Amino acid sequence: MSSDVVTRLTSLRQYQGDGQRAPHKPLLVLLALGQLKATGSSILQWSEVEDRLGSLLAEFGPPKNTAGNSPAYPFTRLRTDNVWILSRDVPNDNVGPLRAAPIDGRFAADVEAGLRDNPDAVNTIARLLVESQFPSTLAADVLIATGFDPDTVFGAPTFGTDRTARRRDPSWRHAIVAAWDRSCAFCGFDGSLGGAPVGIEAAHIRWFNIGGPDDPDNGLALCSLHHKLFDRGALGLSDPETVIVSTTFAAVSETGKRVYELHERRLTPRPGTTLPADVHVEWHTREVFKGNSLSA
Ligand SMILES: [Zn+2]
Repeated sequence: MSSDVVTRLTSLRQYQGDGQRAPHKPLLVLLALGQLKATGSSILQWSEVEDRLGSLLAEFGPPKNTAGNSPAYPFTRLRTDNVWILSRDVPNDNVGPLRAAPIDGRFAADVEAGLRDNPDAVNTIARLLVESQFPSTLAADVLIATGFDPDTVFGAPTFGTDRTARRRDPSWRHAIVAAWDRSCAFCGFDGSLGGAPVGIEAAHIRWFNIGGPDDPDNGLALCSLHHKLFDRGALGLSDPETVIVSTTFAAVSETGKRVYELHERRLTPRPGTTLPADVHVEWHTREVFKGNSLSA
C-alpha cells in the first residue's frame, strides 16, 4: 500500500524534452503533502495555490516567464496522473475559469487514504521529489518553503525506489576541486582547515539530476555562498570564462554588495584546467539563471 502511493506520487508525467526543467507538478505535490501534514487534509484552494505555488515557481522554478510556468498548469494537469481531483471541472491551463469561482484541489481519495495509513510515506515522497528536481544546495530551501523539516525528510527511507537514479562518480568532486586549485572559481576563496579545503564545493553547471554529467567540463569549484547563488540563478556565466550577476540579486550591506563585483569577472584557471563546455553553460542560462544580467 505505502509503496503504491509512493510510486504514484513520484512517477508523475513531466515534460522533459531537451533537458528542460519541469518542477511544477512536484512542487504542487509537495505543497499538498505539507498541507496534509499540517491540517490532516490535502485540500488547497486555488487562490492559495496561485499565491504560494506562484512564489515557489518564481523562486525555484526555471527562469522563463511563459504560460507553462503558471501555477494553473500543474493545478489542472496533475489530474491526468490520476492522483489529483478538482472540486469542479475546468479546462487545462487556463487561469480565467479558476478565478471565476471558488475551486479547490486535493489528492484523490485513495491516495489520501494511502498517505493516512502510512504517514512515513509523506517524508519519503518529499525526499524523492525534491532530490529528483533540485541540487542539494536548493533541496532544503524547497522543503522549508513547502512546510517540511529537511533533516526529517533527508532521513526518510527511500525503499529502494530511487534505484533507477544514475550513479554519481565518487571521484568527480575531488577532481573538480583539485583542478581549480582548491579555490572558488568566482571569488578565489581558498580557506582550509587542518590542511583540507573548507567551504569549497564542486558545483555542477548542468544539474546532475537533470542529466548533467560528472565530467570535467560540467564542473566548477565554488565557495559555499557562490555555489548556492549559482544554483539559485543569481550568478551565471555569459560564456565559459565570464561570470555574470542577475539583476534579481539585491544586497544592502557592503559585504552583500561584493557579489556585484563578480559581474564580468573572468575565470582564471591554471594551465590544463578544463573550462566549462558551451552546452552546459547554455543549459544553465536557459534553465537556471534568473532574468537579465547587470549591464557592463
Ligand atoms: Zn566564491
